[in-house]
Amino acid sequence: LNTDKTQLSAAEKEYENSIRPKELDEFSGQPQLIENLIIFIKAAKIRGEALDHVLFHGPPGLGKTTLSRIVANELGVNIRETSGPVIEKPGDLAGLLTNLQPNDVLFIDEIHRLSTVVEEYLYAAMEDYRIDIMIDSGPNARSIQLTLNPFTLIGATTRSGLLTAPLLSRFGIKSRLEYYHAETLKKIIQRSAAILNTAISTDAAFEIARRSRGTPRIANGLLRRVRDFAQVLNDGTIDIGITQHALRALNVDEHGLDEMDNRILSAIVEKFKGGPVGLTTIATAVGEEPGTLEEVYEPFLIQEGFIQRTPRGREVTLKAYEHLGKKPGNTSGT
Ligand code: ADP
Repeated sequence: LNTDKTQLSAAEKEYENSIRPKELDEFSGQPQLIENLIIFIKAAKIRGEALDHVLFHGPPGLGKTTLSRIVANELGVNIRETSGPVIEKPGDLAGLLTNLQPNDVLFIDEIHRLSTVVEEYLYAAMEDYRIDIMIDSGPNARSIQLTLNPFTLIGATTRSGLLTAPLLSRFGIKSRLEYYHAETLKKIIQRSAAILNTAISTDAAFEIARRSRGTPRIANGLLRRVRDFAQVLNDGTIDIGITQHALRALNVDEHGLDEMDNRILSAIVEKFKGGPVGLTTIATAVGEEPGTLEEVYEPFLIQEGFIQRTPRGREVTLKAYEHLGKKPGNTSGT
């Protein structure tokens, strides 16, 4: 199942949009973050100013895009959406910025993928609501300064570690989205099922929830697939029996771990005797970037108690051995 938005099919995107919460009341979880946002939004509205620039960071599928749209909605302004790799030239950025109405939101997804040149233009835009653009070329080339309407930049990233210090410092509000508890995911699944006009039992919703890697995108994706089984094999009602059957057929891991999670655990156990082993070494073994490992995969494995960080590197826990159906060998410290 996909967690990465860039790999979603058109049908998957349409499905996501159909069940995406549009208002704050419909958004479950992330209580601390929401509580703060409500204050900041109210304050901005009282002052009639643009909300400070916001950075949402955290693993894919946790609700960064959803929340950005909700923020614009609560502010009562328009949102323009784009993403880091799409803004190729400073002119593209200028085009987006000059089209904003006062206090509008510009949403830049995958903001860690902005090119250096574009990023540098963004600094003045964020700080002083102005942008310098070059017109003409050759001997006639000159730069003119455009004053922009006040706006809020909302950036989203799975890799905050790649953001430069000058960019980071220009976000007044920086919030990390956390993995969701199974209870919260259960509610999200029940809400989605209601929108899809599908009956689902409480234990079935919880079963999907606890195997969704703490991620609403995965929970909704699994719900969609389980619903197929329920429609073909049952009367369309999702009960616990159908759910367990479907999740088995879909090869969904008992703990909701995905393929990369399992590769990481296997690599540490099989190639490095359970650790401790350095992040870069693990990354090479599984063919992934160390930064992605650290920011996207590892936090979940640590939170769920499969891996621990030690001064000498990463180590798997007993739970990881049990999960892989292996016994700790002649390793120390597990
Ligand atoms: P991100 O931008 O972090 O990758 P999205 O905002 O696109 O994630 O969310 C992915 C899917 O999960 C969307 O379909 C959205 O409806 C759902 N979702 C995310 N967070 C929540 C939430 N807190 N409550 C309900 N649904 C959510």
